[in-house]
Amino acid sequence: MGSSERKPCANNCGFFGTSEKLNLCSKCYKDLCLEEELASMKSVLCSAKPPSPAEPSQGTEGPSKPANRCGTCNKKVGLTGFVCKCGSTFCGVHRYPEKHKCTYDFKGEAREAIAKANPVVKGDKIDRF
Ligand SMILES: [Zn+2]
Ligand SMILES: [Zn+2]
Ligand SMILES: [Zn+2]
Repeated sequence: MGSSERKPCANNCGFFGTSEKLNLCSKCYKDLCLEEELASMKSVLCSAKPPSPAEPSQGTEGPSKPANRCGTCNKKVGLTGFVCKCGSTFCGVHRYPEKHKCTYDFKGEAREAIAKANPVVKGDKIDRF
């Protein structure tokens, strides 16, 4: 008769589960959903890049690591490359933020540094009524 009879959670966690949630309590059901979501995400990632057996292997490093080249002039910099705060590698000429299209928020950092150096910057205006 009762369509929503309560049984102990199938996970034996002590709570009660419902039949529409696979006899799991809401917490365990949520965990299950999360797990399934992660699994499906993983399978998507795996299926997006099928393993090709006849892949030409060049070098011992993975293909995800590009050669160290300057992000602006594409010159090979190897170990002498400079990694900018924006995360890109540059040659000696383009290492400076103004020499490449730097995406790092230097202004924000400077603002933070100033705020740290001078904790009491604001408040020079006294509210009066
Ligand atoms: Zn449970
Ligand atoms: Zn360069
Ligand atoms: Zn940069």
